[in-house]
Amino acid sequence: MEAVVEAEGLEKVYGETVALSGASLSVERGEIFALIGPNGAGKTTLVRALTGTTEPDSGTARVLEESPDAVDRNRLGVLPQAFSPPARLAARELLTYYAGLYDDARDPDEVLADVGLADAGGTWYEDLSGGQQRRVCVGATLVNDPEVLFLDEPTTGIDPAGRRTVWRLIEELASAGTTVVLTTHDMAEAERLADRVGLLADGALVARGTPDALVREHGGSSRLRIETDADTGAFRGLEYPTERPARNRQRSDRSETDGTVVVRNVEPTEIAAVVDYLEDRDLAYSGLSWSEPGLEEVYLELADETERDRTVAPTNRSEGSDGGRGSDDDSRTDDELPPAGETA
Ligand code: ADP
Repeated sequence: MEAVVEAEGLEKVYGETVALSGASLSVERGEIFALIGPNGAGKTTLVRALTGTTEPDSGTARVLEESPDAVDRNRLGVLPQAFSPPARLAARELLTYYAGLYDDARDPDEVLADVGLADAGGTWYEDLSGGQQRRVCVGATLVNDPEVLFLDEPTTGIDPAGRRTVWRLIEELASAGTTVVLTTHDMAEAERLADRVGLLADGALVARGTPDALVREHGGSSRLRIETDADTGAFRGLEYPTERPARNRQRSDRSETDGTVVVRNVEPTEIAAVVDYLEDRDLAYSGLSWSEPGLEEVYLELADETERDRTVAPTNRSEGSDGGRGSDDDSRTDDELPPAGETA
């Protein structure tokens, strides 16, 4: 298969902050690759390095067999995380404007229909809802019918129906041969869309693979979540591993009674026996849910592992996983990462 997007050992340091610490990946033509990871993990920096809007300190990046800043912008679509086009242009005018930046462009009305906004063409950008605005931005990356699409959190703020429209669109583009690299915090999105997922932590890809393979390798077993304040000791009689989730350890919080006990390895047919156990002992519970492991569990497990490693072997990094200026920071604006068209 042909690698269309490649990164090898990318490193990028901002002052004391290590944003990328040797990130490597390879994405093939027509593949959808989802980058996941906590705020500050380096996802945006990696996308910027791959789209030629930041220069890595070391390592190499190649897109369509060229250095990212040399790739013909007609062949790329880039959606930055923070992108705010002129507020007083109507959706159709915006897409017409971006279409005008390319040698060959699609009909703006077709693109509007693709992103589910056929009826909103005449509405000023500022009068669209947040989710509609994001969909116009996704549309702006599609006017040149790009071969490679980089989408930094494409569906953030979009309602569930709009999100599905964008998902279907991305799937159709990929089946027609477009290569897509996207970042997301939505595990359902990664699970549904991605052929492969890469988990970034502290600037490096610590795991990558198909969603299924990652879940098999790192997802662990099924979870039966019981909402109860009962003492953990009360569950010792169960013959399953039982734990209190340790994730929401807030210093001021009552971590011993965070409200949930998780029982692992319970088969669906065995749930009734656990309920009987609770009833027999008069253990009060307010809810019970059973789930197979998914990407969410992989994410939490690996993010936890990274956190543990960091605690055991502290580095001189100045940031925690949330970073001093995480992905919500506005100071890195669209000026720094315009859609491909603006640099065409
Ligand atoms: P993510 O997209 O995963 O949230 P980022 O790539 O935005 O992560 O950031 C990785 C780290 O690099 C964070 O600690 C962030 O604060 C820092 N960082 C990113 N861009 C800049 C910048 N332009 N100047 C200084 N620090 C930056």
